[in-house]
Amino acid sequence: MRKSRKVKYSGFSLLRNSLGSNFWPNIFPTPELRPHYDIIIVGGGGHGLATAHYLSSRFGETNVAVLEAGWLGGGNTARNTAIVRSDYLLDASFELKNLALQLWGTLGSELGFNLMYSPRGYIDLAHSDGELEDFILRANAMCLRGAEAKILDRHQLQKRVPQINLSESTRFPIVGGLVQEKGGIVRHDAVAWGFAKSAVEAGVDVVQNCPVTSFEINAGKVTGVRTNQGVIGCEKVLISVAGASSEVARLAGLLLPIESLNVQAFVSEPVKPALDVVVNYNAGLCYISQTDKGEFILGGATDGYPSYAKRGSFSSIEDVIVRSIQIFPFLSGLRLMRHWSGTADIPMDGNAILGSTPIENLYLNSGWGYSGFKATPAVGLLMAELLTQEKPPDLIAPFSLSRFEAGNLIDDSGTGPYTWLH
Ligand SMILES: Cc1cc2nc3c(=O)[nH]c(=O)nc-3n(C[C@H](O)[C@H](O)[C@H](O)COP(=O)(O)OP(=O)(O)OC[C@H]3O[C@@H](n4cnc5c(N)ncnc54)[C@H](O)[C@@H]3O)c2cc1C
Repeated sequence: MRKSRKVKYSGFSLLRNSLGSNFWPNIFPTPELRPHYDIIIVGGGGHGLATAHYLSSRFGETNVAVLEAGWLGGGNTARNTAIVRSDYLLDASFELKNLALQLWGTLGSELGFNLMYSPRGYIDLAHSDGELEDFILRANAMCLRGAEAKILDRHQLQKRVPQINLSESTRFPIVGGLVQEKGGIVRHDAVAWGFAKSAVEAGVDVVQNCPVTSFEINAGKVTGVRTNQGVIGCEKVLISVAGASSEVARLAGLLLPIESLNVQAFVSEPVKPALDVVVNYNAGLCYISQTDKGEFILGGATDGYPSYAKRGSFSSIEDVIVRSIQIFPFLSGLRLMRHWSGTADIPMDGNAILGSTPIENLYLNSGWGYSGFKATPAVGLLMAELLTQEKPPDLIAPFSLSRFEAGNLIDDSGTGPYTWLH
């Protein structure tokens, strides 16, 4: 089995490389494809690469290929607003995200790659007494399950976030908030690169510019994939393509209960540190944090209609900017530097679809919409377990595709099957 050279980053290696010659090898060399793999992962985003990392590091499975249509992490992984948290009410959602939150804490050292996990705190704002009651319920549920959560009244909120506009005359006055101090942000593209580096060093083939164009299916069982580099045989396939889930599943004859909608993100010009916490303006449907480079990063809801065009509509840009200024008036003095969009794969209950499919040995990790980044290490670990141990791990069992037939939906937002309300 091919082994690539392990690359260690340190202050010494930085000094050595800065002195002239480049001693760092290419950490993602283009591998020669094998004719057959035990496992093929379609999609080289954070989730697919995390699965490859855990397959090799925890389950000793290295006869694995990750086939990526474009470049590593070029999908939603590097388009997201990088927020991680586990402040969910329902057991299934909470457990998965909380496992991830625990893993984020040590992942950088496990991968030997600086992921810049910054547990700076995540605050959800409440705008009515009724909403604050809901937050108290959620905070209690989180604490009972071993996580930390705290309710902030207006006074505590003002102390924690001095720049916030608590005026009674704003469009949606703020009455309090729920803070999870371990929530925060993680450098999103480093996550893809860190997982890829570890998997490649263990002997996994990570192949860029290699789209899967169809599946080889015989007698109801997947036996390989067709790519722009020919047919590759395999025992098992995991589809992990986020926004392209419906399209790729359709290549295998599967219709998924998913709608694909644009979600945008926005970045201001960089300024000195001014906000040391992530704030979610619930009623305004937007969230704000400041990156390590000093830029404010803003996110909002979906554009509200299905589309694969990776560009956003102007009405969403206006909505997010106007609402961000409502809670942080100082933002009005900053210029918007760039914005982009990603395709969010949103199932009818707004929760992920994980596990087997009606086609034998074809597995699915999809439906994360605009909330899957935070779950990346947990999903990778659990999908690796599923692919090697057959039985779905308890934590992903509730997320099966068959839940839609059985009516066992996981409706965190309580909005029913209306993707535009999630
Ligand atoms: C604007 C925005 C903001 C978001 N903010 C957050 C946030 O703050 N916190 C959070 O938790 N989540 C957030 N998300 C959601 C999060 O980004 C995704 O749920 C997560 O990154 C999905 O990871 P992934 O690896 O499954 O997908 P991706 O990173 O999209 O990877 C899938 C890969 O599959 C590849 N692919 C597609 N078709 C094929 C094919 N036929 N063959 C081979 N490869 C293929 C794509 O090129 C892509 O690289 C946000 C999403 C968006 C769009």
